[in-house]
Amino acid sequence: MDLVNTHCHTGFCGHAEGSVAAYVSAAKEAGLATLAFTDHFPLSDAFDPDGYLSVPRASMEDYKRDVLAAREENPKMDILFGVEMDYLGEVEDRIFSSEELDGFDVILGSVHFVDRWPFDDPAQRDRWEEPGAADEIWKRYIELWCQAAADAHIRFDVMSHPDLAKKFAYYPSFRLEPLYEQMAEAARAGGRMIEVNTSGSYYACAEPFPAPALLRAFARAGVPCTIGTDAHVPENVSRDIARGIRLMKEAGYSCVTVPTSTRDRRSIAIDI
Ligand SMILES: [Zn+2]
Ligand SMILES: [Zn+2]
Repeated sequence: MDLVNTHCHTGFCGHAEGSVAAYVSAAKEAGLATLAFTDHFPLSDAFDPDGYLSVPRASMEDYKRDVLAAREENPKMDILFGVEMDYLGEVEDRIFSSEELDGFDVILGSVHFVDRWPFDDPAQRDRWEEPGAADEIWKRYIELWCQAAADAHIRFDVMSHPDLAKKFAYYPSFRLEPLYEQMAEAARAGGRMIEVNTSGSYYACAEPFPAPALLRAFARAGVPCTIGTDAHVPENVSRDIARGIRLMKEAGYSCVTVPTSTRDRRSIAIDI
């Protein structure tokens, strides 16, 4: 079956490494049929004062140029020009032109901020250690994630790493399973896809996003699922993709659904 990766970051993001060309050559080597570039959409200075979390606005044209050139040079691979877009909820301080957003083949929707705090930034993780913090953070995270997933006014094609709050392995005192049902319902209502994001295995949580029980909830709700490695270096462009597809199968999926550069979706039957 075709192997694909619909989530990766290049050196255009302050915290990732590797050119578009280096990613494409690693993807070719790994035999990927689809590669979506999804660098972080620019944040304001208030959220990203050091230009570390997202692509600086001034670099977006170069990012686009490199991805489109790679597509031109590699007609056998479906190469998508995309972004990972932070959902900030009520504290959103950017104005989006529909022209700009229409330029992307795929937009990943992500919650990395809970009320202005980047909860998954290793440099700012202290707040997790405060008494009772994990319960509060998880509650708020899931609330924001469900808003992002269900809001039809926002274009998020795929909701990324659905249970990112587990990254540092801080868990709430309450059971998450009932909330998984709410997340699946929100994604279904918003017409979103979700992804298996294989990077989770390399953080303290030591398992891909989402957890098996959450992936099963998405499968039961009929939410289509793609797969990405969230690579921040070209070497990780195909990391654990086959393993992630096996997890999808175990959760009840019979196909991988993949966004395409023609703004469509295609299905790949799981045969692994
Ligand atoms: Zn992310
Ligand atoms: Zn990412």
